[in-house]
Amino acid sequence: MGEAAALSRAEALRLRPPEWKHACHALLYAPCPGRLFGKIPLRFAVLMQMRFDGRLGFHGGFVDPRDTSLEEGLNRELLEELGPGVASLLVTENDCLSCHASERPQRVVEHFYVKQLRLEELQAIEDRATQAKDHGLEVMGLVRVPLYTLRDGTGGLPAFLSNTFIGNAREQLIYVLDTLQLVPKDQLQKAVAVAQKRL
Ligand code: AMP
Ligand code: MN
Repeated sequence: MGEAAALSRAEALRLRPPEWKHACHALLYAPCPGRLFGKIPLRFAVLMQMRFDGRLGFHGGFVDPRDTSLEEGLNRELLEELGPGVASLLVTENDCLSCHASERPQRVVEHFYVKQLRLEELQAIEDRATQAKDHGLEVMGLVRVPLYTLRDGTGGLPAFLSNTFIGNAREQLIYVLDTLQLVPKDQLQKAVAVAQKRL
């Protein structure tokens, strides 16, 4: 993946199809009070998906801003990939966190959205995800991101970050974990450093 340049929404929308394709993806998360093995705090449930290509990514896809608004396209993609549990969910322009343009491997403008849900809402999505049109096709399954690091220093978030991600999904995930303080800064930095050595 080539270098991705950050853009404002106005700048991003000036990059027109068909020369530029636009993709919208969303990170959905909820506060999660549980503890793993009764002791390790889970803190938040952050959703990602195992894609058809064996890489991890966020839910969403290509949107043609000539046909629909970016968000209309994104909400349609979310319904296809996550199923009827997202029927009452509406991701809006206000949920947009960043726009990035990259020229390689193809010219894509990536619009990235973040939305906080209640845990019950997130669980309702998980419960019905196998009913999604794309389940078993473009989407091989939902995953929650482990936000903790186990005592061996690798298990949990560092091992998760050592997976292969689509596009800039790994950077998007780390950025959100940092800026929304879903993982304490020192723990996140350590996890990223451990993962870097394993890649
Ligand atoms: P999709 O239809 O979901 O495969 O998305 C269209 C394209 O967006 C992908 O083929 C990737 O090249 C690109 N993309 C960029 N960032 C991401 C991301 N965070 N998650 C998923 N796809 C991404
Ligand atoms: Mn997709």
